[in-house]
Amino acid sequence: MAVVKYHKETCSRCGGSGEHSYNQLTGSVCFKCHGAKEVTSKIGMKAREFATSILEDTLENFINDGTQLVKMRNGRQRYFHFDTYTKEEEPMGNYLVGGVPRQTFKYTFFRKGKEVPALNVISQDYHDKRPIRKIPTTEQVQEISNYQDKLLARRRRK
Ligand SMILES: [Zn+2]
Repeated sequence: MAVVKYHKETCSRCGGSGEHSYNQLTGSVCFKCHGAKEVTSKIGMKAREFATSILEDTLENFINDGTQLVKMRNGRQRYFHFDTYTKEEEPMGNYLVGGVPRQTFKYTFFRKGKEVPALNVISQDYHDKRPIRKIPTTEQVQEISNYQDKLLARRRRK
């Protein structure tokens, strides 16, 4: 699978050594680049924002017939992939929000027929508005790379 390589630049904190003056917490590893010696540049960040703008959607727009693989964050802010989900029609129950009863529904997520327990949730209807992130197609990877290349070319001309 094609992946976008976001533009990087030498870490300004350690000057590309990956190390910095010793401290007890992190030792001598540079805590800006975590020893990687480079960090995503401003242009790389812009390309990443562009990627988000074309790859982010909400659960209500998900195709949900097993043909689309997407990822979604769970409560712990980690991403998990899924290709189908079910929402039980029978409400799980009501609970009061400001004195108003709200129905909750059981959502179950699957990948290749196997449950993805980390994503399963009992939630109100607003769960349908949850952001999902599409896996970029080869064309979209190309589109994002082109966008980044254009920004880089523009910078070089300055
Ligand atoms: Zn560094």
